[in-house]
Amino acid sequence: MRHMTDRYAVVGNPIAHSKSPQIHAEFARQTGQDMVYERLLAPLDGFAKTIESFRSQGGKGVNITVPFKEEAFQYASNKTARAVAAGAVNTLKFDEHGMLGDNTDGAGLVRDLTSNLKQALAGKRILLMGAGGAARGVIGPLLAEHPTALLLANRTLDKAQLLADIFGQGMQASGYKTLAGQHFDLVINATSASLQGELPPLPVDLFLPGALAYDMMYGNETPFMAWARQHGAAHVADGLGMLVEQAAESFYLWRGVRPATASVIRMFRSA
Ligand code: NDP
Repeated sequence: MRHMTDRYAVVGNPIAHSKSPQIHAEFARQTGQDMVYERLLAPLDGFAKTIESFRSQGGKGVNITVPFKEEAFQYASNKTARAVAAGAVNTLKFDEHGMLGDNTDGAGLVRDLTSNLKQALAGKRILLMGAGGAARGVIGPLLAEHPTALLLANRTLDKAQLLADIFGQGMQASGYKTLAGQHFDLVINATSASLQGELPPLPVDLFLPGALAYDMMYGNETPFMAWARQHGAAHVADGLGMLVEQAAESFYLWRGVRPATASVIRMFRSA
């Protein structure tokens, strides 16, 4: 029988900007896995068709990015517990049992914070800004690290309150005005404000000594990162490590091999 190289892809709209093909190509090279990983642009009303067609051509799995993570959640035939908690799927694995949906964003963030940035989260006060898909995906894994407090701040308070009600475990919801007088060891920007060159309205004395400011966006220095440097954050990081770590977690689900990530993060940072 003719040998077929296993095929994977990232599906989104838009998709041209995605770094996932380079990341997975590097993982495959490093671990000697025989696979290819491509970009798939799905029409906004054509997610399911795009996936079906890729699967029928021998696709083994996909990553899912904006705006299809909730649709992928509906579409998966089985889901991991962390995907159910997140209410969104960023990884699908196709096999004889159907389509397993997983969410590796939260594990990716926690691994970047704890392994790469060496930040223990137990006993820490964490502020998570934003209540969209990215925030929702990381709440469960952050709570599992046992912080003293996890406060979710969002422009639209109702959305933060809804997530606090869903996750419980003492998590609080807040708007930005009521952050005055509160201080944190870790402040994570999971809003899309950076994409528009904006900054959530934050009080100036937000950071405790030794605090880390983390922006999920990556690439250039964001307004939040620049603001944090000026207002007492001891460490500032962007979301490149999270991107590579969530990819590594997907790769592990598909291939059963855990790639080394530090060299890949360094490679992308210097590119
Ligand atoms: P969503 O569109 O689902 O959510 C956007 C959130 O940002 C909402 O809570 C919204 O508030 C808030 N927001 C938008 N603009 C502003 C503003 N000007 N001021 C304050 N709040 C604002 O986006 P996602 O959750 O999918 O993604 C968020 C970010 O995370 C993106 O930048 C994305 O690139 C990044 N990301 C990075 C990953 C990585 O691996 N590094 C993985 C996943 C996401 P409201 O509810 O009031 O509208």
